[in-house]
Amino acid sequence: MGLAQAIRGCRACGCDRLLPVIDLGRTPLADRLASPDDPPGSDRTEPLELVMCGACALVQITVTVPPADLFGQGYPYHSSVSPALRAHFAAAAAAHLGRYRLDRHHRVVEIASNDGVMLRHFVARGIPALGIEPSPGPAAAARAAGVSTLDAYFDGALADRLAGDGWSADLVLAANVLAHVPDPVDFAAGIARLLRPGGHAVFEVPDLGDLVQGLAFDTIYHQHLCYFSLTSLEALLGRGGLRVVDVERLAIHGGSLRVHAAPAGTPGAAVAALRAMEQRQGAASPAFLAGFAERVARLRDRLRDLLARLAGEGARIAAYGAAAKATTLLAYCGIDRTTVDFVADLNARKWGLAMPGCRLPIVPPARLLEAMPSHVLLLAWNFADEILAQQAEYRRRGGRFILPLPEPRVIA
Ligand code: ZN
Repeated sequence: MGLAQAIRGCRACGCDRLLPVIDLGRTPLADRLASPDDPPGSDRTEPLELVMCGACALVQITVTVPPADLFGQGYPYHSSVSPALRAHFAAAAAAHLGRYRLDRHHRVVEIASNDGVMLRHFVARGIPALGIEPSPGPAAAARAAGVSTLDAYFDGALADRLAGDGWSADLVLAANVLAHVPDPVDFAAGIARLLRPGGHAVFEVPDLGDLVQGLAFDTIYHQHLCYFSLTSLEALLGRGGLRVVDVERLAIHGGSLRVHAAPAGTPGAAVAALRAMEQRQGAASPAFLAGFAERVARLRDRLRDLLARLAGEGARIAAYGAAAKATTLLAYCGIDRTTVDFVADLNARKWGLAMPGCRLPIVPPARLLEAMPSHVLLLAWNFADEILAQQAEYRRRGGRFILPLPEPRVIA
């Protein structure tokens, strides 16, 4: 394990004027699930503090945990486990195939391709495609599904190696990875150099505006180094030689931006419209984030009060979703085994392990019907529709879900 490094300046522009946004305290590393053999209290924690760059408005956390400690052996996140993510990436692939009119003469590279959940749709059309994925478990699953995958972290140096090996691409896909990258400008510049003439890159990133408005503070964790508005993203990509030509707003992950970029091109009407909206909101100004920390603290207090009141009334409470975001929510709200019995999760790779820090055991969803807790705290709230549908029988028998945010409430 390596030491966490505190940043000296903005990850994009280097400015050392970093304005405090929220301090979530020391939290365990998300997705580093504890095994029953790990001694109690041994789970690694690191500071989790959000700041905004006073120059380019990039919102970011103040420490960088070495990527190998976050995404290496044991990283349990397989995109294909979630039906909602499978559907999202199938639709994304269809949209990209149509928009960029790709055929077998083109090449597609996807960065952080996970288990090939999106790239398999290009492979199925006979389009030469290469995935880049540093987590060994998902990379092996992708290869098993027929998707060529390189076990690596993408950066400018790898981009040049790939281009030298004949992997210059017409389309580079980077969904939910830019926020993970310690040097995002080098990453963007590498993509710009990897693109063939006329090629495009498509990024998906969680939208800071939706995070702030939806009080989705639990999407802040050590894997997510940066939190983007279109304004800060355009500035960052520009430093790497990419221009944003189009933007779409997506509902996935509590609100995301899909940005189409290229080394040259003219921003379309959607870019101008979202820029104007962010300017009205002040998304690039500290004023937009003023009060966020207080609102999150009040949300924490209301959630704790609700759980305490239910427990006082004799409720037995479980949780659903051993997701990365659950680590932040449980740690910041101080929720542990005194309040919650276990966490159910669909991913069999997590069963038998425990949430880091609070050590809530992770069990199969079938346990809900066996144990019939009266309430289930929905930690994976971004998949609420999917989970409520899967748990129709639990609800029919009288079980109730608790939605933690933006306002804690019991779903009738
Ligand atoms: Zn900056």
